Amino acid sequence: MSEILKCFCGAEPIVEGKTVEYAFGIREIFKYRCPNCSEKELPWLGQWTETGALQEWNNIALKRSYHKRTLDYNIHGVCISEPYKVYEWRDKSKIDHLIVKIFLDNSMYYFCREYWHKTGGCGCGLWIGTSGFPSLELAKRHAAKGLNESLEKIAKKLLLSENQMELF
Ligand SMILES: [Zn+2]
Repeated sequence: MSEILKCFCGAEPIVEGKTVEYAFGIREIFKYRCPNCSEKELPWLGQWTETGALQEWNNIALKRSYHKRTLDYNIHGVCISEPYKVYEWRDKSKIDHLIVKIFLDNSMYYFCREYWHKTGGCGCGLWIGTSGFPSLELAKRHAAKGLNESLEKIAKKLLLSENQMELF
């Protein structure tokens, strides 16, 4: 078990624990928050050997500014609320696709992507540790980066052009 870091303000976090029924049994979940910084608060999260509530707290503890998440997250730290906007592209085969979901939470924009292109892809939800952006435009710009070349072209048209129809 790693050590619990103090908050940037110097305070030890307040840690609450409770047990809940989850999937196939009873689980203990934890909530970390700073007694001084109102924004420094995590949702209830599970704890595993190397990941979970404690590690997430340590990731945000030393941040000067943090935006508390107000959407719903499951105990694995994956957002279960509805996205604010969804951008979707599918080619004619219906196999290749790119779906970008943008979430608006506590005045910050977050994104997650799901895609398949030719022989590879990835799909994941919005995770609690994902960085946010102060504007929708910035979130979309970042969502169009870090893909392979052809998907980036598609992503740019999908996310950044006014007329999304020109894709089809
Ligand atoms: Zn603090």
